[in-house]
Amino acid sequence: MERNKCWCGNQELEPFSPDYRYCKICGTLVRREWPDLSPADEREGYEKYWAGDEKVRAMVEEQILPVLEERARTYLVERGPYWLRTLLHYRLPPAKILEIGSGPGAFVGLMQAAGFDALGLEVQPWSVDLSSRWFQVPVLYGPIEEQHLSTASLDGVVMMDVLEHLTEPEDTLRRVTRLVRPEGFVLVQTPEFPENLSYAEMQAQQHPFLAMFIPEHRFLFSRRAAQRLFQRVGLPWVQFEEAFFAHYDMFFVAAVRPLQRYTPEEIRSALEGHLKGRVVYALLDLWEQHRERKRRNAHLQQALQETQAKVQHLQHTHTDLEHTLASLQRALADCEAQEAHWRVETHRRAAQAGEMLEGLQQSRAFRLLRRFGRWQRIEDLLKHVAAWNEESLEE
Ligand SMILES: [Zn+2]
Repeated sequence: MERNKCWCGNQELEPFSPDYRYCKICGTLVRREWPDLSPADEREGYEKYWAGDEKVRAMVEEQILPVLEERARTYLVERGPYWLRTLLHYRLPPAKILEIGSGPGAFVGLMQAAGFDALGLEVQPWSVDLSSRWFQVPVLYGPIEEQHLSTASLDGVVMMDVLEHLTEPEDTLRRVTRLVRPEGFVLVQTPEFPENLSYAEMQAQQHPFLAMFIPEHRFLFSRRAAQRLFQRVGLPWVQFEEAFFAHYDMFFVAAVRPLQRYTPEEIRSALEGHLKGRVVYALLDLWEQHRERKRRNAHLQQALQETQAKVQHLQHTHTDLEHTLASLQRALADCEAQEAHWRVETHRRAAQAGEMLEGLQQSRAFRLLRRFGRWQRIEDLLKHVAAWNEESLEE
């Protein structure tokens, strides 16, 4: 089924990517093709599992169960403590919290251990079943619209990775808002569409947000779109927090009016009054230390890479210097060879000049010059040649 309308009502959507259109008015990406299955059809498969259909049960147990088991385990130690830490900044136990899309129930379990009156909600029956088996937590079954919950009966609603799957996000959130007390809140994690980037730019950068383009994600919101959506359903105060997966998600708390933030000291004393709370506080503490260590590791990794680059640069410089040194040594050897050649040549010429002068001494002309007393210069020259000769031999 082709979809050409944004949640905000705008029907003039612009092309964005092969699978999404862009709503310029609110800043949302809208999936082009929506599954033809009605929500009732989608649930039929789950109903079969519930009713004990052997084939469906085998499929679930072989394919989905190991994934859920792994997810439950990792949620308890990585994103669960992170979410809880943020939740505690805005609300201390005791308080009634509903998690919509609670999966195998790990976060509901964590909230309960912290002292909250927490319950989950799932449209998948096996999640309901596993939540009670693994964490002994209550989980409602079916969409929020079908639940018999009283108006203003909840202190908070948690929706992690849910918003992008909703077919009518505004209607669903209006229902959620009615369930929350005026001083309550909704805590949301959903992919963040970086509205400043075109599809081509995302591809060029291999942006992690591209992994969010899957058929199940009907709407992908920018921060602007999320603010607009929550404003429209009556939760205009939207406070963004750092997301656990900060490179493609956003994480925020929405409320009717600004919420106060509890201090670390207030959080500690709220948790340390009971055994489970103490265990949870210790888990949060460990998580914090682990995160610090991860940060330091990343920092060290970067420093190591920089040092490696510097060492490589120095190695190149060293090689260059060695080449220069080798060519200087060759030039010096050439000079020495030339010097030796000239020494031999000087010696030969000096000997030649000596022979010539000796010849001159024997000649009549020399005897004549001697008679006139002009021989001294010849004698000096002879001495000079002899000294020159000796000098060139000595070296
Ligand atoms: Zn829109």
